[in-house]
Amino acid sequence: MNAIRIDGKAIAEFLRARVARDVALLQAKWNVTPGLAVVLVGDDPASSVYVKMKARHAQAAGLKSRQCLLPSNVSEAALLELVEELNDDESIDGILIQLPLPGHVDRWRVLEAINPAKDVDGFHPYNVGRLATGLPALAPCTPLGVMHLIKTVVSDLSGLDIVVIGRSNIVGKPLALLLGDAGCTVTGAQLQTRNLPDLCRRADIVVAAAGCPELVRGDWLKPGAIVIDVGINRAQDPTGTVKIVGDVAFAEASKRASYISPVPGGVGPMTVAYLLANTVNAAVSRRGLSLVMSPDAGQVWPASFRETTREVELQQAT
Ligand code: NAD
Repeated sequence: MNAIRIDGKAIAEFLRARVARDVALLQAKWNVTPGLAVVLVGDDPASSVYVKMKARHAQAAGLKSRQCLLPSNVSEAALLELVEELNDDESIDGILIQLPLPGHVDRWRVLEAINPAKDVDGFHPYNVGRLATGLPALAPCTPLGVMHLIKTVVSDLSGLDIVVIGRSNIVGKPLALLLGDAGCTVTGAQLQTRNLPDLCRRADIVVAAAGCPELVRGDWLKPGAIVIDVGINRAQDPTGTVKIVGDVAFAEASKRASYISPVPGGVGPMTVAYLLANTVNAAVSRRGLSLVMSPDAGQVWPASFRETTREVELQQAT
């Protein structure tokens, strides 16, 4: 079997175009331009690249983009002051604090200071709680992106067995909630999990978000399984060249899986696209607007998720 690659890059491009269309609609109808503020503390090269990329895509989609760059020795008090200023800024709908933060800053104190209505990363306990209870919420971008990729290849998830490797607050835990809501039987695996290969072999879908290069081997997979690789790891190939690899041994897994998302070009671009979608959703939701993006815009995250998926499916079918 040779798996079909799930082209996250192309799907994300489609989603960003959809966001741009929604932004144009918001501007034309209500004179609203959604604004995204990205806060970067320090000069970590990888974080700087991510922040620049987010700002670039935000601008391309017609959003107002503000980058707040702070030195690595910034005090927690100063950072909290900035968050407060962004909370009060009516032109800002989404606030993202690029993680990790330096050790002297209490990450949770900063994340909890964000107005939950502007929490486009979906990390605030208010949104986490709403997501867990099945209420409309701003959900984290990477799990939304993973759900979207899965839904492009399988329309009905109910009854499927899914192993999610990793249970971080950013990926694994919220993803397990979303998948459970979709009717899946979810096994949440982590470092302490026993017999992980056997668990994976029973799964219809394996999502790898462990941060371990090529952890999931080809013989861990049931033939025909769907594989979504969230991992982003730097690894040296035999010639010493550093390259980005995922948590899945791609070549081996491709021989067993039916569909597989690559790294790079899989989940990564989807995460950025959902950041933009969440910002537009926050702009709509904060102003109590309705019927902007879809007939069921009242439901914050599932609305854009479902509709965009449907459009992707239609596009692929033609
Ligand atoms: P994390 O370190 O916070 O959590 C890792 C989780 O994986 C933990 O629950 C840990 O117990 C589990 N784990 C680690 N090694 C394991 C193993 N050998 N077997 C089973 N479970 C294991 O990481 P995170 O922030 O969730 O990120 C995970 C990976 O996803 C990283 O590579 C990260 O770079 C990547 N990531 C990608 C995106 C994206 O947009 N593509 C977004 C977020 C994170």
